[in-house]
Amino acid sequence: MHDLNFIHFSMHKNGPQITHLAYADDIIIFSSGNSKSIKLVMKQIRNYEISSGKIVNKDKGFFLVGPKSCAYRINRIRNKTGFLDKSFPFTYLGCPIYIYRKRLSYFDNMTAKIIERLSGWQGNMLPCGGKMYPVSKKWCTSNSQAWKYLLWARDKCKNQIIWKINDGQCYFWWDNWTEMGPLAQLCPNFITRSTNKKKVKDFISNNIWDVQRLYNTLPSPVALHISSIKLGQCNKSDYAIWKATEDGHFSNGSAWHTIRKHKVTNAAIGTIWHKSIPFKQFFMCWRIYYGRVPLYKGLNISDSQNNADCLCCFVPKNETIQHVFAESN
Ligand SMILES: [Zn+2]
Repeated sequence: MHDLNFIHFSMHKNGPQITHLAYADDIIIFSSGNSKSIKLVMKQIRNYEISSGKIVNKDKGFFLVGPKSCAYRINRIRNKTGFLDKSFPFTYLGCPIYIYRKRLSYFDNMTAKIIERLSGWQGNMLPCGGKMYPVSKKWCTSNSQAWKYLLWARDKCKNQIIWKINDGQCYFWWDNWTEMGPLAQLCPNFITRSTNKKKVKDFISNNIWDVQRLYNTLPSPVALHISSIKLGQCNKSDYAIWKATEDGHFSNGSAWHTIRKHKVTNAAIGTIWHKSIPFKQFFMCWRIYYGRVPLYKGLNISDSQNNADCLCCFVPKNETIQHVFAESN
């Protein structure tokens, strides 16, 4: 492409001027759309074909022009190259290539692939697809600690989710839609084989609670509480509210606060571990605080043969942390 007649694809002057990108048997050539440049590119492709003995696949190859290019220009390039045109976005090496603004839909293929990968291991790990219930399955004893911790965190977080009823697709016994926790936990003795898979909608008729049925199924106070719950619109889906935030929307931060254990803060460490103290100093202070300094006392050397006298004083004394750092000469 050193021919003077070749006009480069115009790029920002401050960036690298790219003429082509090649990966394995793929190549993207950047060129201006004028006839002479196209002709030169095609000449090079033919030279390549002759010297390598490989033929460029016209069915797989294509050319791209800016979206505002006129039909005449596109036709001209088609005739000159023998390639067909394609429009943006297209996928190259698994990535969407697009112009103008980024759109989520451009990444659909990419996310689909990731979801496919995830569902592979998720299917193996989780008992029943996405939704999980407290009495879904017993875990085998070989579960790792990490996995047990995750399950513990799951249960903790699940308590933060409240379902608001619209069409009543929530599970009557297992989802927390009464704000009192799942009914299965609240009144486990009332579950029967015939009702355990019931959904909330089974206790609603014409968008009103089937009070009689509630009283037949649950203890009276619970039935009374439920009959006072306001029902939403039956043509909309139930929706979840995240209790841990004020606006009811889930956030990772609030989930973390739900599961984290708050340690009692140590005021002394707080004063040592301070931004304005250089690392070396506070690290040393921290070691002294916990007695992690190589002194006779600290190392618990009880051998009487060893000399436990300090080196810091004129009249040597017992080398303890208290002595060396607070009382010595
Ligand atoms: Zn001393």
